[in-house]
Amino acid sequence: LARSRTLWELLRRRAALTPGAPALIQAADDPADDTTLTFGALLTRAERTAAALYADGVRPGDTVAWQLPTRSETVVLSLALARLGVRQTPLIPHLRDREVGDALRATGAQLYAHPGSWRGFDYAALHARVRDAAGGPRALPVDGALPQKDPAQLPPEPRDGTEVRWIHWTSGTTSRPRGVLHTDRGLIAGGACLAHALRPTPHDVGSIAFPYAHIGGPDYLVMLLLYGFPAVLFERFALPDALDGYRRHGVTTAGGSTAFYAMFLAEQRKQPGRKLIPTLRLLAGGGAPLPPELYHEVVAELGCGLVHGYGMTEAPMITMGDPDDTPQLLATTEGRPPDAMEIRVTGPDGSVLPPGTEGDVRLRGEAVCQGYLDEEQTRAAFDEDGFLRTGDLGKLLESGHLVLTGRSKDIIIRKGENISAKEIEQLLYEHPAVADAAVVGLPDRERGERVCAVVEQPAAAEPLGLAEVTAYLREAGLAPYKLPEQLEVVEALPRNETLRKVLKYRLRERFG
Ligand code: ATP
Ligand code: MG
Repeated sequence: LARSRTLWELLRRRAALTPGAPALIQAADDPADDTTLTFGALLTRAERTAAALYADGVRPGDTVAWQLPTRSETVVLSLALARLGVRQTPLIPHLRDREVGDALRATGAQLYAHPGSWRGFDYAALHARVRDAAGGPRALPVDGALPQKDPAQLPPEPRDGTEVRWIHWTSGTTSRPRGVLHTDRGLIAGGACLAHALRPTPHDVGSIAFPYAHIGGPDYLVMLLLYGFPAVLFERFALPDALDGYRRHGVTTAGGSTAFYAMFLAEQRKQPGRKLIPTLRLLAGGGAPLPPELYHEVVAELGCGLVHGYGMTEAPMITMGDPDDTPQLLATTEGRPPDAMEIRVTGPDGSVLPPGTEGDVRLRGEAVCQGYLDEEQTRAAFDEDGFLRTGDLGKLLESGHLVLTGRSKDIIIRKGENISAKEIEQLLYEHPAVADAAVVGLPDRERGERVCAVVEQPAAAEPLGLAEVTAYLREAGLAPYKLPEQLEVVEALPRNETLRKVLKYRLRERFG
């Protein structure tokens, strides 16, 4: 199956193999409303929706934007679009006028699928506001069942999996979100890599905690299609309801990221002695730094494995922990790249550095994107050997494991000395009164930049002071020139809505 040329071919072959096996389980607020779609039903529905869209004028090569919550229908729609061979651009429901307008304009989308009103926000009104500036895409409201028609009139299915069919948007952590171009083949390669770490069987029950519109969504879907197991979907992932859904459907493996592991752990601590999710064997995620301490706590207290990896919108699966790795490696590295992913760590002149040396991380392989919507950005992103410059810093160990040390944009340059935000964050995280921490460089007349540590503490906690924190960091072995000169205590760090990554630019705006 992994050799399927297109996503549609993969779905068709899976549906032929196990038509009656569950594929998508939608967990509703009221368990009585839970619904299940089999692989066979997924194929039939997607085909019928493709026919309805075709009858409505959608043609291969068109661009369709969709901004929909994580429901089975959303997956059906994305598969219907894959069947038609249109370019689709998924938008996270949380995005608002500016980002949506930018995305519609930049992609030249002809159609914008939206959920009507959802969680108190009116997407039809958003469409009306941005429509004209964005070249007037038509709206396709999707607030219940999708349109369906007899598939007899459909054109032949697409054969070429190397055409750009997906435009996903980066998180906009370092600059405005960029449109990233992917092919079906690239997504299939990414999903196959994910499976390498998860080792799924048809008896697994998966789940994603992040929105399907995130690049990890189709990546996960590929894995379901390859291995024929179902995933539980939540329209709105919130604890403790999501945990009920996990228990109801016997989730064995869940995908998420650091903030989700921490949320599960906090729930577990409220009821020690009883396994929070009895069937859970493995948490698998990535996309944000994982403090080693959190790794050990999750494994010990939740009683499951944890594989964490490195990915980006441009390459959803770069490295991943292997369940057979030692706990030490699982806690302190991002894991290893699959065979299909080449990683280079390079110096400032682009030369390849030996293992153990920190430098710029660059990537090449089938699961790496074709580039950005903006051709200028594409030219700047790839080096002469065709490797993508990630903007991340790291080192490769002799064993092939990658250790990320930070982002090039996250390096603080204080009086000419480079300081890694990540090193300080990891130490702060180990402080018992700190729930989470982010370190940023702020403009400073004398030093160029000064080190500002922002720590997350529960409202009820006694707020930490700068002297106390610097004493602690000194004690923990941090070099004096790296010590923060500013400390801010917040109840909650600003985070994005997908992987709940900390938005450092907001901290810079607020405290700089
Ligand atoms: P933008 O590119 O718009 O500034 P972004 O890079 O945050 O936003 P994403 O593609 O969602 O957008 O995130 C990818 C980035 O997340 C990586 O480049 C890396 O910096 C970070 N990241 C991913 N996995 C890890 C990890 N395991 N540890 C540390 N950082 C990680
Ligand atoms: Mg990025």
